[in-house]
Amino acid sequence: MHVLLVEDDPSVAAGVIDGLGISFSVTHAQTGAAALVTSLDGVDIILLDLGLPDMDGTDVCREIRKTSQTPIIVVSARGDEIDRVLSLEMGADDYVVKPFGIRELVARIRAVVRRTSASATEIESHADPVRVLHGLTIDTRTQRVELSGDEIHLTPKEFELVVYLSDDPGAVYRRQDILHDVWDTNWYGTSKTLDAHIAAIRKKLGSATWIESVRGVGFRFGGPS
Ligand code: CA
Repeated sequence: MHVLLVEDDPSVAAGVIDGLGISFSVTHAQTGAAALVTSLDGVDIILLDLGLPDMDGTDVCREIRKTSQTPIIVVSARGDEIDRVLSLEMGADDYVVKPFGIRELVARIRAVVRRTSASATEIESHADPVRVLHGLTIDTRTQRVELSGDEIHLTPKEFELVVYLSDDPGAVYRRQDILHDVWDTNWYGTSKTLDAHIAAIRKKLGSATWIESVRGVGFRFGGPS
């Protein structure tokens, strides 16, 4: 994973580079101008500080979006709602407020990369919006789900959750990533809502094995019992 880190504070930058570890390679730009002349070829994600010495991070974000869809996570000491909204409007994909834990940052990076690459895949595979798994047909164009030919009536959120988990059948999706990706980018409320939705889906599909619980971690898409 290749990260472009735009951050003027050397101690914050060092902490991020150190914390991300060896599975990330980091290009470090200390100013907005330096970030804008850095090639984004091969960059998987941009971590963008808002308070830069030469220009405002939101302007950097806007400039990048003119030519690139590389995912951007705004990293800032400003936690104000207005900055958050402004960043997302300028085309950022997520927002992390300082001080943050490195584990949280890594989770956000993975979630954003997965979400943005999934939506890119969706666009590419637009010709075939139908996914068939163990007799379960999921049609993202018509938003319909059928099990062995019988339509299963899911709520929009349940449908979204089924699409999300069945994107990579068998893969474990972490609770916090599901909440983050399927519900709201900035919502870290109770996960009871998630459990309620999972229970409802299992009931409608007639078996709990369609969505398996992975204790202490999250869920994975399974199949019929
Ligand atoms: Ca700064």
